[in-house]
Amino acid sequence: MLVEVAVAAAVRGTFTYRVPTELAREVSLGQRVAVPFGRSRRATGYVVGFPTAPTAGFELRDVVEVLDAEPPFTPKLVELIRWAEEYYLVPPGELLRAALPPGLNARGGEAGPERRGVEYAAPAPGAAEAVQRLARAPARRALLEYLLARGRIPVEELRAAFPRGRAALTGLARKGLVLLDQETPVARAGVLAGERVDAPVLAPSQAAALGELVPALGRFAPFLLHGITGSGKTEVYLNLIAAARAAGKGALVLVPEIALTPQLSGRFRARFGDDVALMHSGLSGAERHAEWTRLRRGGAHICVGVRSAIFAPVPDLAVIVVDEEHDPSFKQDDGPAYHARDLAVVRARIEDAVLVLGSATPSLETLENTTRGRYRRLTLPTRIDDRPLPEVHLVDLSRLRRGGHEVGPGLVSPELADALLTTLAAGQQSILFLNRRGYQTLVICEACGAEARCTECSVSLTHHARRGVLICHTCGHTERMSVACPACGGVRFGVGVGTEQVEEAVRAIAPAARVARLDRDAVGSADDTAALLARFARREIDVLVGTQMVTKGHDFPGVTLVGVVLADTALALPDFRAAERTFQLLTQVAGRAGRGAEAGRVLVQTFHPTTPAIACAATHDFAAFAADELAKRRRFGFPPFTRLLAVRIEGSEEGARRAAEALAHAARPLLSAELTMLGPAPAPIERIRGRSRWQLLFRASGPPALFRVHGALARVARRPPGGASVRFDMDPHAML
Ligand code: ADP
Ligand code: ZN
Repeated sequence: MLVEVAVAAAVRGTFTYRVPTELAREVSLGQRVAVPFGRSRRATGYVVGFPTAPTAGFELRDVVEVLDAEPPFTPKLVELIRWAEEYYLVPPGELLRAALPPGLNARGGEAGPERRGVEYAAPAPGAAEAVQRLARAPARRALLEYLLARGRIPVEELRAAFPRGRAALTGLARKGLVLLDQETPVARAGVLAGERVDAPVLAPSQAAALGELVPALGRFAPFLLHGITGSGKTEVYLNLIAAARAAGKGALVLVPEIALTPQLSGRFRARFGDDVALMHSGLSGAERHAEWTRLRRGGAHICVGVRSAIFAPVPDLAVIVVDEEHDPSFKQDDGPAYHARDLAVVRARIEDAVLVLGSATPSLETLENTTRGRYRRLTLPTRIDDRPLPEVHLVDLSRLRRGGHEVGPGLVSPELADALLTTLAAGQQSILFLNRRGYQTLVICEACGAEARCTECSVSLTHHARRGVLICHTCGHTERMSVACPACGGVRFGVGVGTEQVEEAVRAIAPAARVARLDRDAVGSADDTAALLARFARREIDVLVGTQMVTKGHDFPGVTLVGVVLADTALALPDFRAAERTFQLLTQVAGRAGRGAEAGRVLVQTFHPTTPAIACAATHDFAAFAADELAKRRRFGFPPFTRLLAVRIEGSEEGARRAAEALAHAARPLLSAELTMLGPAPAPIERIRGRSRWQLLFRASGPPALFRVHGALARVARRPPGGASVRFDMDPHAML
């Protein structure tokens, strides 16, 4: 008996092994095996096929051991992974390794105990008063504050919000400050009987969407669910999945980030109880392993998870949901470069599943697929209860400047300062968004003009005033900030505004306001993030300043003002998706305002008020933005009208350049009107961690020409001159 094995190593292709008779009964598709590989006597591999004849010219060696009693991958998952391997031009073993939870990569490791019922936690009477006494137990305090803000919620939501909060929860329960209870039968029985439990009456547009989705169950049917923020998309997912469960089928829900959106996983657990397996980076390896095994054995039928959950072994998969399908986090950039949303389409086809891509700001790729009739488009045009979308007002910073007005420290314009004060006076909350960390983004010597730059990367250092340091945001290099220029001794000054400076400006404008900052410098862990968001939800913070971390997260009914400090930060990036990303971020952050009873308003400060990405976000006009941007993409030949393959080269200055030239040389004979090459050129960030970076970008009307060019480059890429390393990135996202 022969098996085709994908070895968990950075090699393309698969290898044939012989199965000794005593192992033959244990081997099946998707199973992990130990095989001799190269000079190593034992490498892990995965059975991906059963060839009838050995590869000619190769010595046939024996499988050493079969590693699992039952294969971790279903045959359909093996098919998905093989597809991804071909398409993304990555070694299959690497993909398989990325697909499995860490606990399974190591040997052994039995599944954890199967959980039963949904556990709920609620603050006990008197908990609000007790919070003050917990000053010296910050973990318990944060958790209790979260519960006070949210009321009775599934413990699962707490686990998502506070990945390391288990001890704190047990401690609080023991002190009688938190009440824990279990609720199995109701949700479970109802769902299994096909009834909706605990579900609101559907709005007409929700019912209409479900009227198309539910009858499609049982076959491959891709949909775009285009619904503005707060229009009830999640409720549609829940109902569709309930219908699938009533028919005994499973579902997979991909979300961008669970730590920032614990409410979402909480809603799934509340509706479907223990039938939901969660897969996110906050879980330990053993916990992820346990969730994987629960799905594999049919102990859970619904998986809610981040990007890598696209490979989760959901039984009888009938529904795949990709929530916020436009989100860049679905693209994996290091390791095997795959796109989970695009793989969701492939998996839905393999599994005959209904696919729902949900978003308020669909990616232009997805939109174009609806235009071409590949996906059906369903819309939820209004917010639940007909709450209005917030009014967006543009503040033209260049006109302010020309009019002789000072914009003000921290880039807070007089209008924004006024709005902040009015909102505070009304006892309401504000969010200020700026997608730049630190105090100043550039430090320059006024005598010699030298900029503070990273010695290892070709980027300037950001001044973090609170810590008194300069930090490279690319490699993390940190040095003390000195006013004296190291080159000439002259005086240095900083320019460019970051969140730290905005926070300081807000404190100066409104000294009585309770101000907090949410960015990667201010909060170290998912637990800190959840704690801070909980304090904001409890209205213990008046103004929250932060990076894109503030654009997601909870429903904050108290927020009536959203200020975008500078809308232009992403516009100037050397990336054809810069405008699209800007539009998405502005729409998302604007959607935070006015979700409660009070109407919300949004102030967007910009130097480019007429740029479509900004002007259309201000009028909530997705259609106008998409039309304008698609016309540009068509004119300049960018996706969705073409396909791209990036080749990324890293090495010594000389080695990277030589490798890039050798690759370009190998590609030139294939170039035509149909297949063009941009580069070779140094990457926009030319150096990271002391390594030079070059890029080639190939463009064609479809993947086949790109596969051909990959074929021509593969030999050079395996042994590039100058010892450089070469990575292929199909449908690249980051262009830096
Ligand atoms: P989206 O996912 O589009 O942002 P959600 O599904 O989160 O929207 O819905 C927004 C809010 O409206 C949530 O608080 C949700 O519980 C509530 N909601 C959704 N559908 C309904 C409905 N049919 N009736 C009442 N409330 C609803
Ligand atoms: Zn650096």
